[in-house]
Amino acid sequence: MSSPQKKTVQLLNRTHKQAYRMLVVDDDDRVCRLFLRVADKLSMEATAVTNPRDVIEADSSLRPDLIMLDLSMPGLDGVEVLRGLASARCQASICLVSGARLDVLDSARALGRELGLRMGGSLHKPLDVSGIISFLSGQHVGGGGADPSAEDLEQALEKGHVRPFYQPKVCLSSGETVGVEVLARWEDPEMGFISPEVFVSLAEDSGLIWALTSHIMQRAFEEIATLELGPKQLDIALNLSPLILTDLGYPDLVERWATAHGIAPQRVILEITENEAMRDRSRYLDIMVRFRLKGFRLSADDFGTGFSSLVHLYTLPFEEIKIDKSFVADLNNKTGAEVIVKAIVDLGHGLNHSVIAEGVEDSSTAQTLAQLGCDLAQGYHFCRPQGIEGLRVHLGCSTAALGNKCQFAGGTIRKAKCSGEDHGPSL
Ligand code: C2E
Ligand code: CA
Ligand code: CA
Repeated sequence: MSSPQKKTVQLLNRTHKQAYRMLVVDDDDRVCRLFLRVADKLSMEATAVTNPRDVIEADSSLRPDLIMLDLSMPGLDGVEVLRGLASARCQASICLVSGARLDVLDSARALGRELGLRMGGSLHKPLDVSGIISFLSGQHVGGGGADPSAEDLEQALEKGHVRPFYQPKVCLSSGETVGVEVLARWEDPEMGFISPEVFVSLAEDSGLIWALTSHIMQRAFEEIATLELGPKQLDIALNLSPLILTDLGYPDLVERWATAHGIAPQRVILEITENEAMRDRSRYLDIMVRFRLKGFRLSADDFGTGFSSLVHLYTLPFEEIKIDKSFVADLNNKTGAEVIVKAIVDLGHGLNHSVIAEGVEDSSTAQTLAQLGCDLAQGYHFCRPQGIEGLRVHLGCSTAALGNKCQFAGGTIRKAKCSGEDHGPSL
């Protein structure tokens, strides 16, 4: 029989294939020292800050995978730190450490999620070495943890741990939010944040892609229908795996789900990233035409990368081209990127398609895109993906709980603002 201590270490070895960096934020330097001692034991890289005002700087210089954040600190509390981290586009998995009541911790985690942060588990004070070790062994951070299984995903879908987030799509000439892209998020109470890159491929490999897609679509339609925006309605863009494009009955199903919530197919854009399987165009053409006949719109996602091809662009019934974020990210520092983006914009317009750029992170990129004639854009510069309540706040709607309606003068949607501006003070 192994001792409990040994068992924990084995568990750590199994779940942490790679070492990860941890940032500890606590005004109590005894707590900081305790974490650093444990990190040393586990050969983890760790840094502690006792002044919450130093967190943003530490996050941007250290790029930690995991932040252990004390919820109640003098001067600036954990909630303010969460808002600051959201504005600073923190990518770490954030775990709350507090002596506060569990329901307070749960609400703070929910707030973090609404702000688009990756919220991990929470740790209750008082702390001890073995408690910290076993807690850290359960965290999935930065892809360093054990991969979730198909059973984990199936259960997460059943329990509602996978849910839609929404990222606004903004018209570059008017600045109005005209739609949202729906992005699936899996926040597991035990495993923490699991990247869509991981669970979407898991779903495709295990056959759960049908369950995932139907769950996300139906929940997104249901939630978007609760936004009362007046006469002007948001478009809803959903990612569709090419695997789904083998089911001839799918357009009927999506039509039924959308209309059940009063959403016209014309408002629904299906984003399709071409893959190797789509080399055989004829197999997909009939289902794509059926979607179009019902009024749905189709978008060529990640255009310019992978298997996207010019032949597809004029034989498949797309209406929109989405320029991949890899070109957008390089727009201001590589001349080649600008040439490619300009060519895609002209190509799209020549084919009568609208063109959208993803991954816009700053205003100069947005300006360049507008000058190049790109129609729409989305990215952290305008707003991070967030839950329906966060979207409601972003759009200027009052919360459902208050029972009030959205207030849009004349039914127009107000100019999109960066979520950082929307969510209170930054640090
Ligand atoms: P995608 O369709 O290309 O989605 C855009 C990705 O860029 C999203 O990553 C989004 O969070 C991220 N992003 C947004 N703004 C910015 C920015 O300014 N800078 C940067 N660097 N990134 C930005 P995410 O949410 O991690 O999703 C990854 C991929 O997972 C998506 O790529 C999509 O292919 C897939 N995916 C997500 N949800 C679903 C889903 O419900 N169904 C299917 N089939 N695939 C999904
Ligand atoms: Ca997409
Ligand atoms: Ca993309």
